[in-house]
Amino acid sequence: MGKNVRIICGAKTRKGETCKALAVVGKKRCKHHGGLSTGPRTPEGKAAIAYAQRARWQVYREKVSRRENSKGF
Ligand SMILES: [Zn+2]
Repeated sequence: MGKNVRIICGAKTRKGETCKALAVVGKKRCKHHGGLSTGPRTPEGKAAIAYAQRARWQVYREKVSRRENSKGF
């Protein structure tokens, strides 16, 4: 891979699709998916992020399932 090649982010979006935005130069993710961030460096930091992400997804899934339940009969 060349140094100046901009790669596609490829992060998974909420829709389950792949992010097609160009990644930040020198990074593997677009600016929406952590390309600008250096990310957590410590195991504690990573665990905190993982926990926060899980919590967010749980709220999201609950919202979706509630919506689906009310949609039915
Ligand atoms: Zn992205």
